[in-house]
Amino acid sequence: MLCPQCGKPLREKSGVSKKTGKPYRFLGCSGYPNCEYTQFLKPEPKQGLKKVIPTIIEKEEMVKYLGILRGDIQGIKKELEGIKQQITNIETNLIGKLVENPNEEK
Ligand SMILES: [Zn+2]
Repeated sequence: MLCPQCGKPLREKSGVSKKTGKPYRFLGCSGYPNCEYTQFLKPEPKQGLKKVIPTIIEKEEMVKYLGILRGDIQGIKKELEGIKQQITNIETNLIGKLVENPNEEK
């Protein structure tokens, strides 16, 4: 990487944060002190590989979860069908009773 200000190569440097006391890394211009360009480095993910594996597991978990959800939906649908059937039965029953005893109120 080259310094965007003077074109000289950037060098990786380290310092200690005055605020937190933790070491940090940054890119500094090799033209320092003539050029004071610095670029802070984002802390590298130390466990790059491990970060990938959970993603795969997460996907599998999601697929599993979706499967469970689908299963649940199927179950709920079946339950709803059952409730619908029950309502139909009650309606049929009531209509049957009304038909059987049309003059009950008299
Ligand atoms: Zn520079």
